[in-house]
Formats: sequence, C-alpha cells, structure tokens
Amino acid sequence: MRKAADDAFRDECGIFGIFGHKDSSAHTALGLHALQHRGQEAAGIVSFDGEQFHSHRSLGLVGDSFNRIEVIERLRGHSAIGHVRYSTTGETVLRNVQPLFAEFDFGGLAIAHNGNLTNAYSLRKELVSRGCIFQSTSDTEVIIHLIARSSYGSVVERVIDALKQAQGAYSLVVLTNDAMIGVRDPSGIRPLVLGELEGAPLLASESCAFDIIGARTLRDLEAGELVVIDNKGLENLKPFPHRDKRFCIFEFIYFARPDSIVEGTNVYEARKRIGVELARENGVEADLVVPIPDSGIPGAIGYAAEAKLPFELGIIRNHYVGRTFIEPTDQIRHLGVRLKHSANQGTLDGKRVVLVDDSIVRGTTSTKIVEMVRNAGAREVHMRIASPPITHSCFYGVDTPDRAKLLASQHDVEGMARLIGVDSLAFISIDGLYRAMGLRGRDAERPQYCDACFSGDYPVPLADCNAESTPNQLSLLDDQV
Ligand code: SF4
Repeated sequence: MRKAADDAFRDECGIFGIFGHKDSSAHTALGLHALQHRGQEAAGIVSFDGEQFHSHRSLGLVGDSFNRIEVIERLRGHSAIGHVRYSTTGETVLRNVQPLFAEFDFGGLAIAHNGNLTNAYSLRKELVSRGCIFQSTSDTEVIIHLIARSSYGSVVERVIDALKQAQGAYSLVVLTNDAMIGVRDPSGIRPLVLGELEGAPLLASESCAFDIIGARTLRDLEAGELVVIDNKGLENLKPFPHRDKRFCIFEFIYFARPDSIVEGTNVYEARKRIGVELARENGVEADLVVPIPDSGIPGAIGYAAEAKLPFELGIIRNHYVGRTFIEPTDQIRHLGVRLKHSANQGTLDGKRVVLVDDSIVRGTTSTKIVEMVRNAGAREVHMRIASPPITHSCFYGVDTPDRAKLLASQHDVEGMARLIGVDSLAFISIDGLYRAMGLRGRDAERPQYCDACFSGDYPVPLADCNAESTPNQLSLLDDQV
C-alpha cells in the first residue's frame, strides 16, 4: 500500500499492549504484525513475568525479529507491550527502538509511544541542564525523565504529572510491575483502542491488531483519557484540562488499515465515501476510473460508483518489491516506480482515464505513473485526489518532508497539473472531506479533526517547531543538548 519511500506521508508508529494473558508475548508479536503498516523500521516487545522485565528490540520487520520461538519464549510473562516504529524523531538506531525501559525507585517501567511531542526540545534542554543523561534521541525518553523527576507518590500520578508538562500528540502504552496504563493526549490526535481477549484487556493503535488474535474491540479511548489496568480491573481517569478533540483525519485517508474501525468508523467505507464526494465535486468526462494501487483503490471504487464509470485495474502493483530495493538516487527512484507499478496497456490504450490516488506529497510518484499511463496509450489522463492539497507539514508523529518540498505548498492546482503532466487535476475540498466523514463541512462546524496538513490550523501549539521547516526537530538537536 506504500508509494516510493520519499513520496508519501509515512505512518508514525503502532503500539500494542496486553495484560494478564499466558500468551502475552506471542499475541503482542501478532498484534504488531497487524500494525506493520504503521512502521517498518524497527519493532520491540517488553514483557513482565511478575519479577523481571524481558525485552527484545530489533531493527527491521516484525516477521524478521519475532519469527523464532526462542525469542517469544524468552519474553516470559503475563503482560507485554510492543511497538513498531517509523522514526519521526531520533535516528533509527537500536537505542531509539521502543518500548523504552527504565528502572525507577518504584520498579521498572516500559513505554511505547505513538505521536510526537512538540515541546520535546525545551523539555529535554531543561532536563539536561538539571543533570539528566539521555540514552536515546527519542522524544519518548523525555517522558521517562519527567516521570523519574516527579515528586508524586504513585506511578500513575507520576505519569500524569509528566504528561501534564508535555505538549503534542501522544498515545502511550505503559507497563509497570503492577499495571498497564494506556493514555491519549487531550486532543486525541493519535488513535488508541481498547480490546479484550479471554478476559485480558488489550490496547492497540488500531482494531486490526485485535482481529488477528481473535480479540474483541471494545471502544476507542477518549481524548485525554487514561486507563489503568491491573489485577483489580480497569479504572479510567480524565486527568488533563479539557481540549476539543482533533483526531488525525489522515488516518482515514491513508494511515489506518482499511479493515480497521477507527473512532467508530470503518476505514474502507470512509475511503469509499471520500471517493463519492470527490466525484460529486470534480466529475469529468471519461471512459474508466483507475486507482493507483493500493491506497487509491477504495477512493476509486467510490468515485466510479458515483460517476457511473467502469472501475478497472489499469495499473498493476508488484507486491514483491521490498522497501530497501529503492535507493535514494533520482535515477533509481525513477526505476523504483516502474518496479512497483506497471501500466496495463490492454485496459488503458485509447481510453480517457481518471486516475485516483489518496494524496500528493512531493508529486514524484504521480509524475512517473502518469507518464507510464500515457505510454500505455491513454488518450486523456485526469487525476483526482482523495485528499485536499497537502500544504503543511505534520508535527504530530508523521514523517513528512519540509514544507518547501510539498508540491502543493509551492504550486497552485494548475501548476501541479502541468508538472505532473495530466489533462486535469482536482482534489477533494476540506468541506467535502468532512462531508464524507458524516459532518456538514469544516466551515459549518468547529473543526472536528486535525486537518493541519491541509489547513495549517495546528490544534496543539508548535512550541519547539517551525512550521516552515523540518518537522523532526529533536533529531536536529542531537548535537546541541
Ligand atoms: Fe494528521 Fe495531518 Fe494533523 Fe498530522 S497534520 S496529525 S497528518 S491531519
């Protein structure tokens, strides 16, 4: 479902936790496998057996790191948390791979984080000036030091105290000697779902991680909700000052797996509805609707149904091309797109084609695909995009290029169409996107989602970040603190 490595918003991270189950580590490994689309650079699991914590963290895919029974058997215990990572802060080295673990005066604590703290630099600088020594360059370690320095008595109070100082986006799963804690930031930007397997509570970024192990999805954690799961049961708290919920709308466009239920909505159905709205707003005379696979498929199905045009697989994706195959030179990038996609000439020759994709980031993939479709004989190529133009970077845990490298930040729609080489180009509007999500439109109501990458309206202040520059602030600061 991925595009060329440099030309997509890349998922942030996926987290998973299970408390009180005999097969906790095996289930965590399976849950992480289902969340692999959220991060492919590293994976880790920390388990607790009642006396000791056990950890295995590794670069690479879940299937490569947790495919041996000895690894799972070493991760003993009735509780475990796990993490798949695509780095958004900190370089990808083993010391940054999560879950992070530390010994405190109260015992051990492991933490898995999905999101990005926007004031991590200030916090880290202050902590370093007070003598804290950091092992990693990850913003998650800031939370660990804030917990360590908190003067509150219980672990839960110390976690709350730490998070009250943090700004930005975070969904966390924390494992201690006695409990598993799950928490979402007050704006609920990143997802976190509660589930249950044979009486054991579960937490995960997406419900697809529960489906793979036959578990039940119970509900999303609310924005700003913290749950404490221990032998006594589940307690839920709302410890943070209220903020309006602003869940990441891009989860529906691209990040989440289509079979997940996110915020009570089936992602695949949401993507089809976006395609329907896209067709209503931006219809064009054509013969075929063709998705750019895989992420453009649900939108194209919705578009074709609404436009009453045939849906055809005019571009075939090769699923056996690994990420590492694509080297970062312009020449190989060009080759990379051809390796991943090929045009189906028998379908496209002589046709007026509507190409549907989920988004345009830099535009390099789109340009190559349009060229390929034209070379296959398409008479006209119209591109329809199932998201509004991405004009701003994300600072909330998603890997995005600097703003200046986003095609839509530099060109208007006509300019983009010229560069990509299409006969016409159109995007769904922000209002259309909100309508597809069952609302009347962004302007009709207060924004219900984070849509900052389309609107520039950042729901949480960018304390240490410059909206015009790189989103990955902390990684730039390694030499400074
Ligand atoms: Fe999601 Fe975009 Fe907001 Fe980032 S800026 S959280 S990708 S909607």
